[in-house]
Amino acid sequence: MAQTPNVIGITVMQRLKETGDAATPENYERLYYELSGLPRPDKGAAPDSAPACVPDPAGVSPAFCAELLLALRQMLVDVTSKTEVLARDLGEKNKDLAGNVDTLKGSRDKNEILRLLSMVVIQAGGIQHTVEASHKDLLETRHALTAMQEELAETRQLLNEDALTGALNRRGLDQTLMREIARAQRGDGRLVLAMVDLDHFKKVNDTHGHEAGDHLLMHFTSLIKSVLRKSDALVRYGGEEFTLILPDTDARGAQFVLGRLQMIMQKSPLTYDGKLINTTFSAGLAALRGDENGHALLRRADDALYAAKNGGRNCIKIAN
Ligand code: GH3
Ligand code: MG
Ligand code: MG
Repeated sequence: MAQTPNVIGITVMQRLKETGDAATPENYERLYYELSGLPRPDKGAAPDSAPACVPDPAGVSPAFCAELLLALRQMLVDVTSKTEVLARDLGEKNKDLAGNVDTLKGSRDKNEILRLLSMVVIQAGGIQHTVEASHKDLLETRHALTAMQEELAETRQLLNEDALTGALNRRGLDQTLMREIARAQRGDGRLVLAMVDLDHFKKVNDTHGHEAGDHLLMHFTSLIKSVLRKSDALVRYGGEEFTLILPDTDARGAQFVLGRLQMIMQKSPLTYDGKLINTTFSAGLAALRGDENGHALLRRADDALYAAKNGGRNCIKIAN
């Protein structure tokens, strides 16, 4: 049976512990592919190849996730053993208490009764103390688990999000594109993928500085978001290149969306350090074909983008 990435991740971390190898991303990656039997992505692949699952720039590595899961598992083991100890402890104390209560019932001697009563009170106090201490312990564990849960949710988001623009990253693209293509193929099959690339972005960096370039990327992202529907997805594919996934849309609809983006860009240049920075973009669109996969769709959109760049930039081309 195929194992989930989490299970493989935990096994990898255990194996690293056993072998004494450092838990570096390189060692983790090597063992991950060795143990999962999955094909290793080609590190030298050209940027226009199928998106690969690589650690994202936010610095959240699969090793980090596996460590978190390992800590979580350890915590669950702790809780289980604490609960077992508590049950055993309470069982023994309860037995002692019941024994004394029984003796107490049959006792007629005043001194004996007083002695047994004081023992019952001490034993009941002991039980209460055990319960209270365990309650505190379990509460602490629950707080730690909640904190870890929040950290995992944040990590999951970071894993799929580009830190600078808040758009999805390449890992997010893999998942979203597969999901949306499957959805489209179950429905009427309409889906458009657009590759969008800022024109002469390097010149912006060279003229205004890298920080201005960063601001332009954030500005561009927010302009793109303003023309997208809720169901659309925006991915930062690379430096100044973005992928738009537009479900329930045909090529004409997508062309309209990108035409609006061109208009808005013209009207809303970025103001940075008191200067206006005007930019344009080029785009390639590809409408999903019958049983096409994400890789082929991306490639066609990318070819169309290439044609738009060759055609003089600031234009939108539709793939054949
Ligand atoms: P073209 O019109 O052909 O697309 O030209 P271009 O200058 O936009 O493209 P090119 O590939 O020559 O240069 C892209 C530049 O984007 C180079 C790289 O330094 C810059 N870049 C990539 N990522 C970032 C980033 O996160 N921030 C900033 N400021 N620059 C980035
Ligand atoms: Mg560019
Ligand atoms: Mg580019």
